[in-house]
Formats: sequence, C-alpha cells, structure tokens
Amino acid sequence: MKIGVLALQGDFAEHISMLKKLGVSTAEVRLPKHLDGLDGLIIPGGESTTIGKLAVAYDLMQPLKQFGQRHAVWGTCAGAIFLSKDISRNDQPLLGLMDIKVQRNAFGRQVDSFETDLEIDELMRVTGTEHPYHAVFIRAPLIESVHGNAKILSALDDGRIVAAQEGHLLATSFHPELTSDTRFHEYFISLAS
Ligand code: GLN
Repeated sequence: MKIGVLALQGDFAEHISMLKKLGVSTAEVRLPKHLDGLDGLIIPGGESTTIGKLAVAYDLMQPLKQFGQRHAVWGTCAGAIFLSKDISRNDQPLLGLMDIKVQRNAFGRQVDSFETDLEIDELMRVTGTEHPYHAVFIRAPLIESVHGNAKILSALDDGRIVAAQEGHLLATSFHPELTSDTRFHEYFISLAS
C-alpha cells in the first residue's frame, strides 16, 4: 500500500505524518511521474486557486484526472474544491472528478474558523469505534449539493454537507490531518485497498 500526497502547496506534510503513523508508505507528488505505483492520492488543504494554477503549470491536470478514474482520491478542504465538478464561481482550474457542487469560504473568513464533533456512521462502522469525530474547519468550503453517484457522508446539525463520497472518491470540508484522530485516514486507506 502506497499513498501519495499532492505536494504543490498547503499542509501536505501533516497528511504524510498521519499516513506514517498508520505504517503506510508515502510519496510527495509534484510531477506526473510521481503518481506511478500509487494506490491512492490525498489532495491537502491550502489554497485551491494556487493548487490549481500549480497543477496546470506542472502538467498535472490530465494525469490527475486519469489517476482519479481508477484510484482512490481524497480532497480535504481546498483539495475537496479542486476535486469537484462545480463551484459557485467557476474561474479556477478544477479536476472535476467528483459530482459535487462546492461553495468556497462558505463559513466566512479566517476568524470564523471553528471545530465541532460529527457523528459519521460509515466512519464509525469501518473503524469499529463509537465516539464522534472532532472536525477542524478553516476557511472551509461547503458541499452545497451531491449529484449522480455521490452521497452524503456527513452533515452538520443544520443539514449543511461537510463530507461526501462517490465510490473511491472522498471529499471533506474539514482537516483530519490537523488532529490526532487517524480514523479518517484509516477510512481512506480502506477505500484505496
Ligand atoms: N479557503 C480555501 C480555498 O478556497 C480553502 C481553505 C483550506 O484549505 N483550509 O481554497
């Protein structure tokens, strides 16, 4: 099992250390050839416009789209935006792999960042645990709607969607790499294997 983390911008180092904690081989992905031999890819949080521009500059758009058609890909926060088919103002490069509509910075500015506990049935079932998942939101996007085969994995109490899955593709508005809870990474590894 080898999982890559897109390492163009953002908090890729935190994802790598979570994966290492779980004993998984990792690779930093900056060029198309770095995708060779990977079982899955994580796209980290950061700034989705920057990640998109750099992916274009490094000729990664097409290789990433192809990789995601056959392998597990998980986007956290900015990564979820980059993975989506549709954002409200569509003027930045998107992979368009996941049939979800995302709204950037939907919870407000940096000062409106927050943390909350989520009940995520599927995550608890797969990891055999019962305690809620503590999620960190930083200038987070909202998953406005899911379409086609995409399904809601988790929503806030008021119904706003914060995690979605479409087969082997995963999107979370929040940052599991910034906590000590490895369950979301374990869940992704189960999708990649
Ligand atoms: N606000 C950022 C964006 O729109 C995402 C923030 C994050 O990844 N923490 O790309």
